[in-house]
Amino acid sequence: MTAQEDTQRTDTQSGGTVSSHSESPPAAELLGVTKQYAGAETVTALDSVDLSIARGEFVAVVGPSGSGKSTMLNLLGLLDVPTQGTVRLAGTDVTDLSEEALTDARRERIGFVFQDFHLLPTLTAVENVTLPTAFEPGQDGPRAVSLLQRVGLGDRLHHTPDELSGGQKQRVAIARSLINEPALLLADEPTGNLDRDTGTNILEEFAQICERGVGVVAVTHDELVTEYADRTVRLVDGQLREGTRGGDGFAT
Ligand code: ADP
Ligand code: MG
Repeated sequence: MTAQEDTQRTDTQSGGTVSSHSESPPAAELLGVTKQYAGAETVTALDSVDLSIARGEFVAVVGPSGSGKSTMLNLLGLLDVPTQGTVRLAGTDVTDLSEEALTDARRERIGFVFQDFHLLPTLTAVENVTLPTAFEPGQDGPRAVSLLQRVGLGDRLHHTPDELSGGQKQRVAIARSLINEPALLLADEPTGNLDRDTGTNILEEFAQICERGVGVVAVTHDELVTEYADRTVRLVDGQLREGTRGGDGFAT
């Protein structure tokens, strides 16, 4: 596919509804996943966790410090492998892939939004968004421009991170996370550094991302996030407890 076609495809706003994605395999699944860290004492960070994230579903993950939230995000993001159990991404078992195949699957299928953005300070907004693609650094990938326009930064394409507010940096990070059209978007405290209005805007952006069939998982302490999520799950000592269904935040 050419970059031009890619842009056109992305610009198609028809999108689709959550229900139209229900026949696709889940964006991601954890099946009986246990993660232990060996050491002087073995730590069971995740204990037989089952979790399925549908395409188009927004799942919030809450739980006290040390309950296994980051471990779960790392396993979903193929940054780590389980001690036991199965990880599936868009219907494909990725548990036993080689390091190289995991890297490819991560790049092609998963977007990350980190709490501290992880933007490169010397690159402009559009260069940061273009970075995970095959475009040469410094080139304005057309899809990067259209994604930045979508998150309301069409007039900040050539600003560097120190010329952007916290919320704007977060939007650049979100645009970058979507550049390779992931099936799954993983966010660690996506509203953690933002004021409430900016946080609300980011969450509305996540809701729109879901409408395009991406599964979103956000680790959070923020009740605002759980208000926007379709579902909140709680981790306690590495075990998952299903929470209530939210969703009021989608009624705009
Ligand atoms: P959370 O993100 O909910 O705070 P983590 O997933 O970071 O929790 O950690 C879960 C448990 O696993 C904690 O008891 C933590 O100390 C332990 N843990 C996390 N990473 C490692 C590691 N690399 N080595 C050993 N223990 C770890
Ligand atoms: Mg953590």
